Amino acid sequence: MSENKKAEKITAVKGMNDILPADAPLWELFENTVHSVLKSYGFQKIVTPIVEDTALFKRAIGAVTDIVEKEMYSFTDSMNGDALTLRPEGTAGVVRAVIEHNLVYEGPKRVWYKGPMFRHERPQRGRYRQFFQVGAEAVGFAGPDIDAELIMLCRRLWDDLGLEHIRLELNSIGDAAERGRHRVDLIAYFEANLELLDLEAKNRLHANPLRILDTKNPAMQDLVNKAPKLLDYLEAESIAHFEGVKRILDHNNVPYTVNPRLVRGLDYYNRTVFEWVTDALGAQGTVCAGGRYDPLIESFGGKPTPAVGFAMGIERLIELMKMAGEPADPSTCDVYMVHQGEAAQMQAFVLAERIRDAGLDVVLHCAAASGAGSFKNQMKKADASGAAFAVIIGEDEIANHVVNVKAMRAAGGGQQQATVPFDEAVDHLVDQIIGGHDHDHDHVHYHH
Ligand code: ATP
Ligand code: MG
Repeated sequence: MSENKKAEKITAVKGMNDILPADAPLWELFENTVHSVLKSYGFQKIVTPIVEDTALFKRAIGAVTDIVEKEMYSFTDSMNGDALTLRPEGTAGVVRAVIEHNLVYEGPKRVWYKGPMFRHERPQRGRYRQFFQVGAEAVGFAGPDIDAELIMLCRRLWDDLGLEHIRLELNSIGDAAERGRHRVDLIAYFEANLELLDLEAKNRLHANPLRILDTKNPAMQDLVNKAPKLLDYLEAESIAHFEGVKRILDHNNVPYTVNPRLVRGLDYYNRTVFEWVTDALGAQGTVCAGGRYDPLIESFGGKPTPAVGFAMGIERLIELMKMAGEPADPSTCDVYMVHQGEAAQMQAFVLAERIRDAGLDVVLHCAAASGAGSFKNQMKKADASGAAFAVIIGEDEIANHVVNVKAMRAAGGGQQQATVPFDEAVDHLVDQIIGGHDHDHDHVHYHH
């Protein structure tokens, strides 16, 4: 670096966001809520690597999909030439792990995951190149009951997060044979209307015509709305499964709309598909998408194992939480330690550890670039920290083996202060903050 030129700034990769401390309370609230909801339905956490063999995603997601065709961050490992990919979604890794570790050996499993996903998309509101998902997979369950359970789990989450106006869209895409018969008619229909197809649709016409139904091109909406409906091609078993899901949802007062255009353009997906959608986020309105994928595990060499899951986009849900108002509590500490002089600093370290041993959160004043800071400056920091109490140790306190405890947020705005023997400081703070009653500290009185 040249001495007189200012260092060039390096910024984040386009489409990849920093989540700053100001947003941390909201993310924590989301994460705690989703963890407890998942736990209340018996889901266990699974963590798989962010990087997998490229072949895994090509097979699990399908070659003729947006993700595999144009969105994957794939690279060659420069050490050994392996073809690797940053995961664009979570199901493939979970399915690999389930097979690799024979997780369903003892019976069906409910698992969930959370983490960053990577897709090279055009960044815009609600659409990023690194984004976070929470997903759940129920592996080894064949019936409509688990499909309904997953949907109801989502409903509980929206309720617990205070999110309204997220509506449920539901469909069944049948099995491979039913889709095959629909596909013949669908291709014939699109061929008869070839001049109305955009370039992408033309390219997909024979490779993955189902996916055309999910086009976002406004000019094609009328055409796809009038296309042959897969629902009309379902036979008895698929119909019974779909009716089974709807019966449980109806019985539990879960409203839904059947959307015949809701598809997953993959051979491995079957029967139930669903999306939770909101109008509040503009074009990127889907906050959660799920579906059944019974043939997938067998296609990966596992023993035939039915499965169903969903994935939700955390950024979109966080944005809804922001719009819903109620800011999450900013993270604050219980105690801010103010000290002046070296002996006081040593004492402050010891006391801060003891207060933390008692379960309270302590911020110990540490030197900034400009030094330890004046007493006044430290008290400003104590105030800004949101602490309920400042503990003050100066030379006088050291000499008298006491500390000063100042209530920063006393009722009426007064700042009350008490002098407490050093050895009683922890109990005193616990009394004040947690409100214990079995301590004998009546000799301490606050004065203005
Ligand atoms: P779309 O049709 O909007 O591209 P998708 O079918 O690719 O969606 P899924 O793969 O089903 O989306 O992912 C599940 C959820 O993850 C989405 O409903 C959304 O909430 C979120 N999600 C997907 N891609 C992104 C992204 N690039 N940025 C932020 N969130 C995303
Ligand atoms: Mg997409």
